[in-house]
Amino acid sequence: MSIDLFRSPTEVKQWRYRQKDLSVGFVPTMGALHEGHLSLVERSMRENDKTVVSIFVNPTQFNDPKDLKAYPTQLETDLELLKALEVDLVFSPEEKDVYPDSYRFKLSENQDSKLLCGADREGHFDGVLTVVMKLFHIVNPTHAYFGEKDYQQLSLISDMAKAFFMDVKVVGCPTFRSREGLALSSRNERLSTQARAKAPNFAKILQSAPSIDEARAELDAQGFEVVYLDQLWNRRFGAVKLEDVRLIDNVAL
Ligand code: AMP
Repeated sequence: MSIDLFRSPTEVKQWRYRQKDLSVGFVPTMGALHEGHLSLVERSMRENDKTVVSIFVNPTQFNDPKDLKAYPTQLETDLELLKALEVDLVFSPEEKDVYPDSYRFKLSENQDSKLLCGADREGHFDGVLTVVMKLFHIVNPTHAYFGEKDYQQLSLISDMAKAFFMDVKVVGCPTFRSREGLALSSRNERLSTQARAKAPNFAKILQSAPSIDEARAELDAQGFEVVYLDQLWNRRFGAVKLEDVRLIDNVAL
């Protein structure tokens, strides 16, 4: 069985129109799919008549061109994985089709998006919210699935949907971890074998350190470069760099 791969927003809108009253689950991704992404796709498939997955490395959410360039892409492999799950539709547009306005219009939030991952990544969440709003308008899903691994993103998208009276239910899904406890991420692919062995300690320290200060001291001692550590919304959040690869994680307190 082949999988439907659509490139243009118009094709997706026409497809959606044909689904009429069916429930449509949507999983937006930047590709380089792993089991974390697939857990969202499986949940959407269980809970909806149809499931759409988008694969689009969104340039407007990268404040560092080097990070954008280094972001892994593997469309063929991704399509194979989604085909095996029998996903109904994959939407993988080009930048010009998502930004016909060359990013003249954007959505910004001026409170929570300035914290944590927004503090050192100028414009990151404007890019995220803008692309997700565009994708919601194209796909018109009844349900959209986001991972708690990116908890701040999930929370902002959920608030955005409410603020703009959007008819979509934003569903948060638990972080999928390796056996050693590392939150799966497309960026993990860029770690050396040595760093990959050390990376799970980030989650362990985040989870078990009695305080933020003690977590910072332990991470420093183990050679992680701490970008931020903070506690809010009854959760502990952290971002570190290991071999110039940015890892983020969060745990409930
Ligand atoms: P990305 O491709 O990194 O933009 O992620 C696409 C979606 O998958 C986002 O909603 C992420 O939060 C989610 N996601 C990525 N990694 C994981 C993971 N390890 N567990 C659960 N969800 C994840």
